[in-house]
Amino acid sequence: MFDTHAHLNFPEFDSDLKRVIERAKSAKITGIINPGSSLKHSRTACELAQKHPFIYPAVGLHPHEAAGLNPKDLDLIINKLTELVEKNKVVAIGETGLDYYRVGGGLDRKALSEEKIADEIERIQGIQKKLFKAQLNLAQEKNLPMIIHCRDAYEELLKIVKDYKLKGVVHCFSGNAKQAKEFLSLGLHLSFTGVITFVKDDDELIKIIGETPLEKILLETDAPYLTPEPYRGKRNEPAYVKFIAEKIANIKGISVEEVIKTTNQNTKNLFNLT
Ligand SMILES: [Zn+2]
Repeated sequence: MFDTHAHLNFPEFDSDLKRVIERAKSAKITGIINPGSSLKHSRTACELAQKHPFIYPAVGLHPHEAAGLNPKDLDLIINKLTELVEKNKVVAIGETGLDYYRVGGGLDRKALSEEKIADEIERIQGIQKKLFKAQLNLAQEKNLPMIIHCRDAYEELLKIVKDYKLKGVVHCFSGNAKQAKEFLSLGLHLSFTGVITFVKDDDELIKIIGETPLEKILLETDAPYLTPEPYRGKRNEPAYVKFIAEKIANIKGISVEEVIKTTNQNTKNLFNLT
């Protein structure tokens, strides 16, 4: 079983990473993809992968990085990511994308006029798009798949990715059924986290999983976040990916073995793992 998205280089794992990795191995996890989220975390993802051969690094900047970014530095950032790709066994570019949820959440709303706040939000969204497109181009150039993060910006993101011939996964998919179909028709995969273990049975997400071919689904924890039931509220870790496999099996009315077997193959094919 693969966990295609875990941030083992985040501080939440500082004190007991060794045990987390042991528990993942006992839970029959054969590979973990650790995406980058900033330049620093792209670097530490690569370092972690050098120490543990079953951890595969991805490098990229999360859209949250856009707010503090000067667009002039974009070339420099892409150069640094390129260097990491060339010196490490990087399996994807990401996580990167658009996140319009609470953009400008850090602004001092009392000190600024409505108009100024709107301008600032538009400015940050513009940088997110530039940052995303630059990483899409890097992925194309290096022939790597993308790990796409998207929140509250699916229509905007679709407009961008439509112009590319892409391989990749929309991680922690939380859009609607129509958007899911559009991503699938573009050849992208969808991956699901512990969120699917605690939404209601009539949630659109459950319907989307039912309708998405198993061949296009990947499993992920997004550890340390989004912990599945029955551990919801605690820190997440790769060993818990089995609860997501079980839930998908349950929704589709198939065996867990089949979910594991097919998603393993999907992961190996997409990220070119041997
Ligand atoms: Zn993530």
